[in-house]
Amino acid sequence: MQIATILGARPQFIKAAAVSRVFAQQPSIEEVLIHTGQHFDRNMSEVFFHELGIQDPHYHLGINGLSHGAMTGRMLEEIEKVLMQLKPKLVLVYGDTDSTLAGALAAAKLNIPIAHVEAGLRAFSQSIPEEVNRVLTDHVAEILFTPTDHADQNLIREGIDQSKIFQVGDVMYDATLLFSALAASKSHVLKDCTLEPQSYFLATIHRPQNTDTPGSLRLICTLLESIAKEVSVVWPVHPRAKKQMMKFGIRMDRVRCIDPVGYLDMIELERNASLILTDSGGVQKEAYFHRVPCVTLRPETEWVELVEQGWNIVLPPSADIQFMAESILQRAYIKGNEVQLYGSGKAAERIAELLTMKYGD
Ligand code: UDP
Repeated sequence: MQIATILGARPQFIKAAAVSRVFAQQPSIEEVLIHTGQHFDRNMSEVFFHELGIQDPHYHLGINGLSHGAMTGRMLEEIEKVLMQLKPKLVLVYGDTDSTLAGALAAAKLNIPIAHVEAGLRAFSQSIPEEVNRVLTDHVAEILFTPTDHADQNLIREGIDQSKIFQVGDVMYDATLLFSALAASKSHVLKDCTLEPQSYFLATIHRPQNTDTPGSLRLICTLLESIAKEVSVVWPVHPRAKKQMMKFGIRMDRVRCIDPVGYLDMIELERNASLILTDSGGVQKEAYFHRVPCVTLRPETEWVELVEQGWNIVLPPSADIQFMAESILQRAYIKGNEVQLYGSGKAAERIAELLTMKYGD
């Protein structure tokens, strides 16, 4: 059975690192990787293929740097050409990026069944670009692999046939378990950044709602600078945030801004932080995987169980910097409940098993 996997953005490489290695062990599965090019910098793409042992993409479409509509449209056109040539049994997409939607639409138009990994996530806000991508992808997918009960309920509420939904756990948890030992032995990021374990906060900010207007980005940068008066803050800056900081003339004095790091360094930075400040979906979960308290700088989160279990609080950026900084500083070292939220680390195996059962020759 040939599976064409569409990927293009950093979190998709990490998810694929867990799933593709299981596919590679199955004699009945031949996986073809189609990289849209959405993320293209060495440290946003290549490093993940290299250090996580993902096979080189068979197709690289080189599409990036366009508006959402233009990018999704160009990807749709180019993915369709590749799929018409390959005629795969199935198209597999991850998460909620423009690459996800373009892959799903291209497959749907060619009547190729679609499997969606990380289905059913909802922020209940149509102004978030990812929300549109995930809702549309879920509604054209034939098989929906969900990480949690909440995700199942969201899909059922939207009228998706229960027979298409398979709760397998979270492939990002698989990835964390797979690569943590390697990260501990290979990464020297703490030494390079002269950071002591449990002595710093880790920040990641990249969502358009936080970076795309001078007001919102300035607010977050001021907040991080204010926190950095009390505790070291290290921030691997996403290219979007970096571009916007330069455009808006924002300079950071106290916060340690570094280039985006590879996944192994990221695991080490997360694992040893005393608190994580983020607007990333993946990083919120990883904070919990490493049992590090997390503050989400957004008005909402898709990963509601983290909030319910006390591992995460949602704190929308506001102009009251002092209040924000105090709330965040108080949050460090407060742990949540010891529960198992995202499966057993065998999501990728379940995915391979179910796909082989349903679509195998
Ligand atoms: N990540 C990384 N290096 C970094 C920042 C993040 O490897 O400098 C990883 C992180 O560990 C997580 C994923 O990238 O696995 C999250 O991606 P991102 O925040 O870009 O997207 P989101 O999860 O919000 O879709």
